[in-house]
Amino acid sequence: MFRQTIVLTVCAAALIVAPVNAGDLRVGFADRDITPDPEAVDVWLAGYTPGRLATGVHDRLHARALVLDDGERRLGVVSVDLVGMQHPQVERIRERLKGVDYVIVCSTHNHEGPDTIGIWGRSFIHRGVDDEYMDEVIDKCVSAVQEAADKVQPAAAHFGVAQNDDLLRDSRRPVAKDGKLRTLRFVDAKDKVSGLLVQWNCHPEALGSDNTEITADYPHWTIARLRQKYDCPVVFVVGAVGGLMAPPKQLPAAEPNGEPYYEGQFELAEAYGNLVGDLAIQSVEAGKPIQLTPITTARQIVAAQVQNSWYRTARILKVVRRPGYEWTGDYRKLGELLVRGGGGAAKRTAIRTEVAYVRCGDLGLACIPGELYPELVYGQFQEPADAGADYPEAELEPTVQSLLPDSHWMVFGLANDEIGYIIPKRQWDLKPPFAYGRKRPQYGEINSCGVGVAPTIMSALRDCVEKMPRSAKPVAPAVAP
Ligand SMILES: [Zn+2]
Repeated sequence: MFRQTIVLTVCAAALIVAPVNAGDLRVGFADRDITPDPEAVDVWLAGYTPGRLATGVHDRLHARALVLDDGERRLGVVSVDLVGMQHPQVERIRERLKGVDYVIVCSTHNHEGPDTIGIWGRSFIHRGVDDEYMDEVIDKCVSAVQEAADKVQPAAAHFGVAQNDDLLRDSRRPVAKDGKLRTLRFVDAKDKVSGLLVQWNCHPEALGSDNTEITADYPHWTIARLRQKYDCPVVFVVGAVGGLMAPPKQLPAAEPNGEPYYEGQFELAEAYGNLVGDLAIQSVEAGKPIQLTPITTARQIVAAQVQNSWYRTARILKVVRRPGYEWTGDYRKLGELLVRGGGGAAKRTAIRTEVAYVRCGDLGLACIPGELYPELVYGQFQEPADAGADYPEAELEPTVQSLLPDSHWMVFGLANDEIGYIIPKRQWDLKPPFAYGRKRPQYGEINSCGVGVAPTIMSALRDCVEKMPRSAKPVAPAVAP
């Protein structure tokens, strides 16, 4: 099972007895409440340092699903208000959704919801995940996608983009942002909006590290704003949030002469969510019709080397529970399963993850299993690299923009996994002297699998694009594992 590139293609129309004409888009939506109950169990909040116990619920967390159906194939997307869902959990969801050809499970990367990875429990050595709760989340993702698939209705789609870089704060140099908000608007046969898909590129951390009430953070208000305007389901996903995209620390008050709102206040999360909602409305209103059929998927199973000793220790201590594999030196080759932690084999551990490229008609979707630095979307690399960086001469990675041949595209970050930051190799900086003349390295590397991860992920995306049949109507399944 080495070269696990799987290309799912549309079969020849003549072989299919479909209830609708091939090429007709149908879409369905569904939603499940996934809020844990902090009165019944200890809920450890994810995203900053361990030891943050939830004291209440401010607003509900959701799993929001949509299914696209081209008459022959079905694509499911489910986005959860959580810090991340790992690949083994994603595969458990997929196993139970046989009627959907490919399912993308995304997390908004919420920093004010329960720990779903393990590293934010009572302390660094205490696993913060409630496994019963995770089982419930998986059940609800399955049932949301199933319901969305059961409810598909004919639809036309419109794709829009609106940009505002000022809505992003970049806390790590060099400054590089993806300030483009992208939307898909679906309308039914009566021209009523039947649902929205929104991609925006910012960490949900308006509430900061001191909050103890469960909340979906700013996406709660973005979605509420859009629901109020269009009276329809909304699926919200994040794109390139690494490097490090966060809301402003301060926003002006709603009332004239009012005190500004600051990070940590629900007022800031609401104000920011509304600003993102307004940008989404701009994007929706500027949208143009787009063909979203046929649906074709190319995915690559990837071995990602784990050089980060903290991650390896967390896995050995079973704070993080996911299988480890022998690192073979080749991201396309998964080595032997490591039986017990992987020992101290610093350079020999890998995890199994996934990169995918989905083509929906004229729209490309890059599915990236972690927090992509925006440099890897557009290529705004520092040139030349800072001499203090560890690999200033490293080869530049290919970017989403350079790889995807589609006229329109979206980036789904934390898609099908959360493996941490995906940092351009030239920017990697753990050894002195440090970039920008700093006394200490910038924040980022501690939450990355390692320096090899960006070249691996971007090369795997290129593999997926190359495996994708060029013809709009491919006729045969291409590669079996
Ligand atoms: Zn993050």
